[in-house]
This record gives sequence, C-alpha cells and structure tokens, in this order.
Amino acid sequence: MNLMRNADLFADSVIREMTLRINRYHPDDGVNLAQGFPDFSAPDVVKQAACAAIMADLNQYATTWGTPALRRAIAATTSESWGQDISPEDEITVCCGATESMLVAMLATLNPGDEVVVFAPFYENYGPDAVLAGATPRFVPLRAPDWHIDWDELTAAITPRTRGIVLNTPHNPTGKVFDRAELERIAVLCQEHDLYCYTDEIYEYMVYDGEHVSIAALPGMRERTLTVSGLSKTFSITGWRLGYCIAPPEVTRLLRKIHDNVTCGAAHPLQAAGVAALELGRPYFAQLCQEYRERRDYFVPALQGLGFACRAPASAYYVMCEVGPLLDRLGLPDDRALADLLVREIGVATVPGTYFYPRDTGLGRDELRFVFCKRMETLRRAVELLQPLAV
Ligand code: PLP
Repeated sequence: MNLMRNADLFADSVIREMTLRINRYHPDDGVNLAQGFPDFSAPDVVKQAACAAIMADLNQYATTWGTPALRRAIAATTSESWGQDISPEDEITVCCGATESMLVAMLATLNPGDEVVVFAPFYENYGPDAVLAGATPRFVPLRAPDWHIDWDELTAAITPRTRGIVLNTPHNPTGKVFDRAELERIAVLCQEHDLYCYTDEIYEYMVYDGEHVSIAALPGMRERTLTVSGLSKTFSITGWRLGYCIAPPEVTRLLRKIHDNVTCGAAHPLQAAGVAALELGRPYFAQLCQEYRERRDYFVPALQGLGFACRAPASAYYVMCEVGPLLDRLGLPDDRALADLLVREIGVATVPGTYFYPRDTGLGRDELRFVFCKRMETLRRAVELLQPLAV
C-alpha cells in the first residue's frame, strides 16, 4: 500500500510525549511543566453556561462556521481591540481551537510548491500545517537573548515562491511581544511581495510588558491577514477546543469550506458558553493578566536561583531558559539529556529547546522551556523538586 508521506515530514509532538512520560514515571507526585494547560478552574460563570446549554438541549450541529452569537461576541471583542469593525457574517470562522484554525487558514490559501516563512523558535504546529498544505516552511531564527529579527535574514528568506509569513505574537515559547515598529516592517514586506500574513494571537490578553498590536489592524494589512486566536488560554479551557480565524470575506469563504470538511464544527453547547466567557470582557482580562504576572514574578527568579539563565517573558506563560552552563555543570551533552533527567529523576516535565527549531540545525541545544500556567502551589512544588540542581 502506498502510505501518505506528508506526515513523515514532521515529528511526533515532544510536548505530548513529555506529558505521557511524566504521567508514567511520576503518576502521583510529578509536575508537568511541559504542556501549556492550566491546572486551575475555568471561571464559574463559563462552566455554568456550558451546563445550562447542555440542559437546554443544544445537542445538534451548530452553524458550521460558528453560532451567530459566538461570532458576534468575537467580533465585538476583537473590533474593540483593533479599532475597526469586523463582520461576524463574512469574516469570522469558529473552529476546533486555534490549532484547527491555523491549519484551515493554510489549507485554504496555500498550494503545493508554495513557501511560507516561519520564525524560529516556533510553536509546534506551523511547520506541519504548511507541510499538510503542500507548502514548504522556510525558517528565520529570532536572535537571543532579546529574540530580535535579523531583517537581512528575513528578506533573504522571501523567494518568488513565498506566499506568506507566519507570525505569533505574543510568542510561544519566548514570550516576545512583537512591537509596532517590527510589525510595520513585516507589513511592508507582506505588501511589497504580495504575501499573506498568518498571525496566531492566542495570548493577546496576557501581556505583562509592552503592548499587543494586531498586524491586521495596520494600514494595508486587513485584506491580506488571517488572524488566528481562541478561548483555550484566556479562559483556561484548552480541552473545550474553541478557536477562530478572522480573514477577509473572500478568504473566509474558502476556509469555511475546508473547515466543513475537516471537523464540520465546534461543540455547540461549548460555543454557547464561549459567549458567556467573552462577555466577561476587559475586567476579566486584566485580572487574568495580573494573576499570570504574579506567577511569572515568583517562578522566573526561582528558576534563575537554580541556575537556569532566563529573562522574564513579556507575555504568555512560558520561560525559555539558556542552560549551557547547567549542562556543563551536570556533565550532560544537550537539552534532550537535561529534559530526560528532569522528567525521569526529578519529576518535572519540560520541553527540550531543539523541539522549537527546525530539525538538524543544532539550534536550541542549550535551551529548555518551562510553562507557568499552574497554581502557585504547583510552581512551588516544582521549585522544591528542582532544588537538587542548585549550586
Ligand atoms: N497557538 C499557540 C501559540 C499555542 O501556544 C497554543 C497552545 O499551546 C495553541 C495555538 C493551541 O491553541 P488551541 O488550544 O486553541 O488549539
């Protein structure tokens, strides 16, 4: 039988593998700081809205591209952020998470032979999404320690085959918030080379330093930008699978067709609860941000004290650490060996840095990522477990 080869072009998720390993080695007392899901509750009103929707028998298919009420709620929230009106009828498609949203965005707009530019380190799905769409990702490194763009490298990565640039701001795994000047330069490149911009903004409401700017709201970008976001992170409901893509009407028409054939639609009662979630609005976002800032301000200095070199991330809930000196001190060869030691012996799951870079480039060998979307007591426990690493 001739097996499909596209899936061989990308690796299994190391993040999910780490989750399996911590559950296997330390089922009762391990701490999973590999996968970005919170271990605390979603807001009560949101959970109650989901229960009420199920009891009201919202059991059948919703409109394939999202209930009108959820699309209106997304349009209202995002229009306020952008300072521009967004049409719930023509520009919004609700999908099963930002994950599906990015995939259908690329499937709808890329053809075999196309190329897309992806910044590295990157969130795990963008490369596979491009490959599934038949396109080739071209990686451009963000340069540590401040994760800046080398503009010559970015310009050189754009070829006659390039169809788009994938952006993720606020950024996983670095916590970088792309500033307005950077976004304006990327916008100029998109317009000069007639490119789409695929932008994943799922951490838009978790910014501690600086300001989140949506590239779609910059002049000349609305008509070429596919903005992906979702409710997973903002409302601590990663298992509910609610995300969306905002795109120009002619692109939305295409991606709704793809979405219809991929998942047909997100869970109807959970979409009803998504409306209640978004209605919590700005005061909720401010509170969420404050709570994450407190976690960051505890966890980052604690990691530094243990010998992990890191900067406080400006956004999101990840800390990318430079572990070169720690590897030397422990006599370990690379990031994978350190992540292996931590998950087996110490009982803390992390993600080796190389996972966030293209394979075989050597990039990320002295980096390691922790998440801090956990209760304070979970973070304290992790720090306690990691104590043997302290000098
Ligand atoms: N995009 C980024 C940048 C992420 O970090 C994650 C999860 O870690 C996702 C998307 C996944 O979002 P969803 O749960 O909505 O599929």
